[in-house]
Amino acid sequence: MIRHHISDKLLMAYSAGSLPEAFNLVVATHISLCDECRARLAGFDTVGGAVLDQHVAPATMSPDALTATLDKIRQGPAQAAGHSTPRNTAPRDAVLPAPLREYVGGGLDQVQWRNIGGGVRQAILPTSRDASARLLHIPAGTAVPDHGHRGLELTLVLHGAFVDETDRFARGDIEIADQDMEHTPVAEAGADCICLAATDAPLKFRALLPRLAQPFFRI
Ligand code: ZN
Ligand code: ZN
Repeated sequence: MIRHHISDKLLMAYSAGSLPEAFNLVVATHISLCDECRARLAGFDTVGGAVLDQHVAPATMSPDALTATLDKIRQGPAQAAGHSTPRNTAPRDAVLPAPLREYVGGGLDQVQWRNIGGGVRQAILPTSRDASARLLHIPAGTAVPDHGHRGLELTLVLHGAFVDETDRFARGDIEIADQDMEHTPVAEAGADCICLAATDAPLKFRALLPRLAQPFFRI
């Protein structure tokens, strides 16, 4: 059961298409796992569509506009809504949901992991550079170094669970961290934790070693 969801602010920005690609990916992946946020998004898409309609004069419609619209509807909601909704290519229990599989080029076995110290591995995903997205593999019982944030950090759990000063996060849960928050996420014992994390600014590490390693790992 998912307990931590996407904020209205982020969902509205996603609906309007104004998020960096890395954040879009996190939102799309959460939505592929969460019926509740998918329903809320449909509401925002409807409101956004109504606002657009008010600004489009009927005279600007070309004669084949109706046909084009009907074609879009036939193609399904992904194309009609103007942002990507996951295609159903992943089995429901796969660790990587469909939106992520498109970035990785398959499932978990296709991920190009790189060690970043302390047993933690990461794989940076190819997104536009205004924000970065990475998969993190944190061994059971391991802590990610204590850090603060210069911008926004979205962390979505795909496998296992982590606990920090605020709460526990398991598959499908999303943690939204900003400048006001400092935390030390620890993967729960029993299962390795695999997360998708996106940030639009470098993290602030307290300890010297992670600080030195930062430029090499683009964290
Ligand atoms: Zn949700
Ligand atoms: Zn963080």
